[in-house]
Amino acid sequence: MLKIDMHTHIIPVEMPNWTEKFGYGDFIYLQQDQPGTAKMMKGNRFFREIRENCWDPDVRIKEYAEHDTQVQVVCTIPVMFSYWAVPEDCLELSKFLNDHIADLVARYPKNYIGLGTLPMQDTDLAIEELERCKSLGLPGVQIGSNINNENLSEPRFFPLFEACADLGMAVMVHPWEMMGMKHMTKYWLPWLVGMPAETSRAMCSMIFSGIFEKLPELRVDFVHAGGSFLSTIGRIEHGFNCRPDLVAIDNPVNPREYLGKFWVDCITHDPRMLEYVLEMQGSRRVTLGSDYPFPLGDLTIGKFITEMDLPEEVVENIFCNATLEWLDLKKEDYV
Ligand SMILES: [Zn+2]
Repeated sequence: MLKIDMHTHIIPVEMPNWTEKFGYGDFIYLQQDQPGTAKMMKGNRFFREIRENCWDPDVRIKEYAEHDTQVQVVCTIPVMFSYWAVPEDCLELSKFLNDHIADLVARYPKNYIGLGTLPMQDTDLAIEELERCKSLGLPGVQIGSNINNENLSEPRFFPLFEACADLGMAVMVHPWEMMGMKHMTKYWLPWLVGMPAETSRAMCSMIFSGIFEKLPELRVDFVHAGGSFLSTIGRIEHGFNCRPDLVAIDNPVNPREYLGKFWVDCITHDPRMLEYVLEMQGSRRVTLGSDYPFPLGDLTIGKFITEMDLPEEVVENIFCNATLEWLDLKKEDYV
């Protein structure tokens, strides 16, 4: 069975030192001390250590073969978004990352599909780079759950979503710069508590502002199984019903109506939660994702799904059909 993992991160091992180049800020660069590992530096500070499966396409293909997975959808690591930078500098950085991914896809067309990154702090530049991503053959882009703490419901982002819908570019929304991060540094809470809330923040913002109502063709996948959105949909719907004066001010449609109109990935680490997600979304709207190569991801690439006794059709939808539909790609190009 064709398996496409639609949520994986990659970074070019050779990159300019952006902080030196632009003369400010804490941009990411990689410091390679020994083969096979690299230190990810944020400005001059150590951020995290990564292994070669973060950048080496052959190592990645080999690791994926161990989990019977043929295709990886790659996008940058959210810490590379750099939405805080001068827009033109972020555009240059985004172009560098997008060219790297497009080149990878050109060299391994059966194994890699690429998503671009955009300078979301400037909508005109973001649209310009979105169009360039389309011309590079990338079927979509990854954006953050908030843009410098502005929600995706802000009117200034609407032209970008409109351009995505017009160009047929899929969107992946990834949590980053988690709310409350400064106040919960202990116990990895930004990742365990903040990330699911961030994704729900993005979903509620997009739904309540009416983006899906105005742009029914827009194809969006919210990662980590939609964060806390699906498990709190009852509360969200109840809030919509009991305080329409606060919630239904821009869109009169019940948020539950949108279940199954967007996509979510399957990263739940919990078969019972995945059953619930499938019930809410339908299997054609649940994509195989892993968050590879990071430890909080599902690094057995959906093994728990094969152990769940689901109908073969459901497994096939999760493993490839849902992603192919989200990205508007053809199965025959990958088998
Ligand atoms: Zn991720």
